[in-house]
Amino acid sequence: MEIKRNHDLKALNTFGISAQAKFFAEVENEADLAVLFSLPEFKNSNKVFLGGGSNVLFTKDFDGIVVLNKLKGVKVIEENSESVSIRSLSGVIWQDLVDFAVERDLWGIENLALIPGTVGAAPMQNIGAYGAELKNVLINVEAYSILKGVKEIFESTDCELGYRDSIFKNRLKDQYFISAITIRLSKKEKKNLSYKVLSEYLEKNKIAVRTPKDISDAVANIRRSKLPDPNIIPNAGSFFKNVFLDESQIQEFLLKYPPAPHFEEEGRIKVPAGWLIQEAGWKGKRIGNVGVHDKQALVLVNYGDATGEEVKNLAEQITASVLSKFGLKLVPEVNLI
Ligand SMILES: Cc1cc2nc3c(=O)[nH]c(=O)nc-3n(C[C@H](O)[C@H](O)[C@H](O)COP(=O)(O)OP(=O)(O)OC[C@H]3O[C@@H](n4cnc5c(N)ncnc54)[C@H](O)[C@@H]3O)c2cc1C
Repeated sequence: MEIKRNHDLKALNTFGISAQAKFFAEVENEADLAVLFSLPEFKNSNKVFLGGGSNVLFTKDFDGIVVLNKLKGVKVIEENSESVSIRSLSGVIWQDLVDFAVERDLWGIENLALIPGTVGAAPMQNIGAYGAELKNVLINVEAYSILKGVKEIFESTDCELGYRDSIFKNRLKDQYFISAITIRLSKKEKKNLSYKVLSEYLEKNKIAVRTPKDISDAVANIRRSKLPDPNIIPNAGSFFKNVFLDESQIQEFLLKYPPAPHFEEEGRIKVPAGWLIQEAGWKGKRIGNVGVHDKQALVLVNYGDATGEEVKNLAEQITASVLSKFGLKLVPEVNLI
């Protein structure tokens, strides 16, 4: 296995941030992992595992080893009259797994179409969109303990999956390399049209949903019209998580800010972070090389040769101004490294 030194990561993160990794390696199969785990450059360094780089911000050069995940392979491992279980290695592009499912008319991940990145990062933050989350279909996660060098299986219920959160992002942060996931998808129609923007789009365009592809196509169209393409304006999608309030907090909040949009989700009330940022006056604002997207205030963008430090500073200014205006603390969804 080749270990590169002082490797530039600009092409490997959708923010387009130039940062040097002291060491850099690529893993293509599980045997590579065993070799990697035995190397001094790995054992004695800080580590970052990288998939598509669509949810990271390199705030400075990384004084450790960055490992690019290229483990590929998708396989049906179990099937009955109602469902199909699929095991995917973690370096598979998430959209390829969505395509694999919708081509076979399997229901369960069609609402998660076009989320950038790899399968292995999906459990990290329990990816979610358009009313669906990975946790609705996840059976288990296979992950190598960095300390012990052995593979362990985490049942979905052990992964502490929450809103853009998991055990791997919190308690076990930086302790495991996720090598595969298994999901169960339904052969029987199970359409999820709970998300208003999606159901309105289908209605407006007179689309009768017959297959999972009808939904994934609709989601892809909506996403293309709403989110800036990182290939054109580098970004990492939603920079912050939405804010959740309980019943008494939301009543108090609405007395002060009656027009605030809010939505019930699993017994809590979601206030869109994008609205808070917009109301604090940040939408479309640009500071040097960085800015807040003019159509989607939740997305911070790199207009050119921004450094990670510049993006981080902008995020801190936004957080401070939302806190002072609304008394609510924004938390980044993006992983700062
Ligand atoms: C335009 C755009 C739209 C987006 N929309 C959504 C959305 O709708 N919903 C959503 O949930 N997310 C969204 N995201 C965020 C992002 O796509 C997801 O979080 C995705 O799962 C990240 O995958 P990745 O492979 O790029 O992860 P990376 O950015 O490479 O890594 C993310 C984190 O996971 C860790 N990691 C990655 N792979 C492994 C592994 N194999 N083992 C252990 N740790 C690992 C990394 O160290 C890092 O901390 C969007 C991003 C963009 C740019």
